[in-house]
Parts: sequence; structure tokens; C-alpha cells
Amino acid sequence: MNSDVAAPLLSRLQEIEDLGGAISLLTWDQSVKMPPGGAEARGRQLATLGRLRHERWLDPGLERDLAAAEREAADGAAADLLRVVRHDLERATRVPNDYVARSAAHAAASYEAWLDARRGGAVERVVGMLERTLDLSLEYAGFFPEVAHPADALIDVADEGATVASLRPLFGRLRDELVPRVAAWSAAPPAPPLPAGPFAVDEQLAAALELAQAFGYDVGRGRQDLTAHPFAIRFAHGDVRITTRAKVDDLTEVLFSTLHEAGHAMYEQGVDLRLEGTPLAEGASAGVHESQARLWENQVARSRAFWSFALPRLQHRFPALAAVDVEGAFRAVNRVQRSLIRTDADEVTYNLHVIVRFDLELELLEGRLAVRDLADAWAERYAADLGVAPTGAVDGWLQDVHWFAGTIGGSFQGYTLGNVLSAQFFAAAARELGDVEAQMAAGDFAPLRTWLTENVYRHGRSKPVDRLVRDATGGALDVEPYLAYLDRKFEGLAGAR
Ligand code: ZN
Repeated sequence: MNSDVAAPLLSRLQEIEDLGGAISLLTWDQSVKMPPGGAEARGRQLATLGRLRHERWLDPGLERDLAAAEREAADGAAADLLRVVRHDLERATRVPNDYVARSAAHAAASYEAWLDARRGGAVERVVGMLERTLDLSLEYAGFFPEVAHPADALIDVADEGATVASLRPLFGRLRDELVPRVAAWSAAPPAPPLPAGPFAVDEQLAAALELAQAFGYDVGRGRQDLTAHPFAIRFAHGDVRITTRAKVDDLTEVLFSTLHEAGHAMYEQGVDLRLEGTPLAEGASAGVHESQARLWENQVARSRAFWSFALPRLQHRFPALAAVDVEGAFRAVNRVQRSLIRTDADEVTYNLHVIVRFDLELELLEGRLAVRDLADAWAERYAADLGVAPTGAVDGWLQDVHWFAGTIGGSFQGYTLGNVLSAQFFAAAARELGDVEAQMAAGDFAPLRTWLTENVYRHGRSKPVDRLVRDATGGALDVEPYLAYLDRKFEGLAGAR
């Protein structure tokens, strides 16, 4: 593909990316700075920009310029770009405008009904909304008649290439392995938590950001703010921000939410600058993105080595931690407990929460489960897998927003793929880096970050996930490194109690 042929296509893609960056900035502002009075206009502004971006995709000129570029013999980076643009254009073309408008309107209405039910309003209304969501999800799948399972069309949006046929056995195996581990590791009373402070929030934010910077988060191309729900967001290569959450009496909240989001942000900051302005400048998939957040949050920041580096720094800022030792801190941040709420779950039980949702989504989409039986099915699975019973809808099937602001199908698998991949990437890095524990204990995170940049970050979305994983780790997606990691860490903890 010579540059004369590529130039018109690249300039169209840059416009689409710029609209995306503006949408992201308005979204960031909505969560971080916007006064309540701005909500109505902001919703309209976002819808307008979203429509403009969709129209740019459907512009016949884009198809013409893409086809012209495809006629040139493309290889290497050009071939990757054309493959991804063709894939995204195909998806944008298949889904009709009227569906996009109907599903967006329904998502807004069901989100309102969900909020209302969580505040004590009518659950019956949410059931009706969710039945409609199921219909719309199946209608979406119908735009892709070639898929083997309706969920495949929805999963592909976030985790391109993953299918029910590949995920069901992987998750089934993981569930069978995790259920007895959770039972064993949560049997004894948990280790004591870190002291409860109180800790000044400004000081907490500074402490968490200092650690994120030690990992390699570049604040010259980013910033940190407080929000109710933490996230990372990219406007451009030079501006990738994180938000975080803090509790006055629990330091782990700010630490792990910041270091998780910094993992997402370092991925985006590490994408090769040459991919900027194209769809390749994003992460490879939801699962790979989550793996980069989980790697820094769990493999690194919940390790003994990290705490021997971090604890003295935290004690310097927070005298309430003076009596804690490294072993005590390590135990405090690795408590395994059966729980009802996914977002509060430890790293061992977490996947069981996800797999319950994934399986129930498939049953709904296959017509084997009716929406009005969902609450019972949910309670049954929680009893069987996690050994706990929800006290009501709010700590049961109404706890996550995903089904009430989008589709049924496709929104949960990335979390568990991320956990599994985080262990694979970390194990591969550790094989090449020598004593990575000693490096982390010394606060030297550059070797690990450099390995991740070389093998994951810089590629952005250039490589399909299976190729990215194989090139970086030498093997296909595999649960063994993850199980080995959990066993190494938690069998030691359980045995030493
Ligand atoms: Zn995440």
C-alpha cells in the first residue's frame, strides 16, 4: 500500500478518531466535573457526536478509499490496518441506524428502571425491560447470521475472535477448579485487614499516584481525578487519564482502584505513536485490556515483593500503618472470602461471579431460561458455586449495571479472560526478566513495563488476540498459569495460618 493510496483513508480515520476523542472528553467531564444541570444537554451532545461518527463510518467515500487501499498489495502494518478497518466497517454497516436508535433509547429507559428498582422501586418493571433487552440482543445477533451462537455476535464487539465454543469449556474448567479452592482457602478466619485510618483523601490520592508513577504511568500525558466509579480513558496518545475512588477508613480502595486503572492507562500510553489516528491505537480487546490492569493490580500490587517496596513509603505518609509489617500487609490484601458482590470480590472468587453471569446469559439467549426465572437461577448458582445466598435483588441479579445499559451477552467474559491472561503474560515476562521479585522489591518496575511495552502495549490492536498471546507467551490462551499462580500464593497463605 503506497502512501498516496493510503492518505485519503488515513485522513478519514483521523476524523473518526477525533470525534471519538471528543466523545471521550465529554464523557470524562460528565463523570468528573459536570454540574447536575448539564446532564440533559450533555446527553444530546454525546448523541450528536456519536451520530456524526457513525455517519463518517457509513460515508461511501470511506468504502471507496478502503477498497482502493485494499487493491494495493498490502503487507505488515498496512495489512493489519486494512483488516481492522474492514472488520469495523462491516460491523457498522450490518447494524441498521434504526436499531442503534431503538436500542440506545431502550438502554436509557432500562437504566432508569434499574436505578429505580435498586432504590426500592418496582422490580416488575425491570423484568419487563430486561425481556425487551433480551429481544434486542437476539435481534442484534440476527444481523450476523453466520455466527454459531447468538452470543458470539455480542462477544465479538468487545473480545473479537472469542466465541461460546472456545469460552464455554475454558470457563467450565476454571469453575470446576476454583469451587474447591475457594472452599479450602476461605475456611479459616481471614487475616486482619489494614488499620482503618482515618486517612486524609488528598494524601491517599498522592500516595496512590506516586505508586502508579513508580509503575510507569506518565502524568505528563495523563492525570488522576476522583469519581464514584473508577475508569481509565484515552483522548489521544498524549492524554490518557485515570479516575479513582477513595474511602477515608480503607486505604486499599484508593490503592487498588488507582493501580488497576493505571494498568489500563499504561497500556494506552504505550501504544506505538505510529498507530495514532487509526483504530489500531486502542487495546487489542476487552480481555487483553483487563489483563494489563489485573497484572499491575494483582500480580504486582498484591505480591509480597511489592509490599516490601511500598509499605515503608506508605508508612511515611500514614503513621497509622506504623505497626504493620510486610507479611501482615501481604495477608491483609489477599483475604479470600465467599461474597455476594462481584466488584468487592477477591481475586480467587472473582471469576466465579463472572462465570455465573456468563452461563446465565447463554441460557437466556438460548431460550432455556426466562427473564422472570432469572432471580431463582441466580440464587441457585450462587449457592452451588460460592456457597452464599443473596438477601434480595440488589445484592443478587440487580447488582451490575451491564444488562441494564446495554445487551445481554458479551459484557462479562472480558473480566475473566483478563485474569487468565494476566497470569500468562506475567509468567512469560518473569521467564525472561530473571528475578522479577527482586526487581519489584527494589521498586524497579522498568524491566516488567518494558517487556509489556515490547510484547503487548506497542502493538495496540494490530495483532488479533490469539496471535498477540502466542507471540508474547509462546502458547495459546490457557488457564494453567493462572491456576498455578493462585496455588503458589494462596496455598502458602492457607498453610501458614
Ligand atoms: Zn478494568
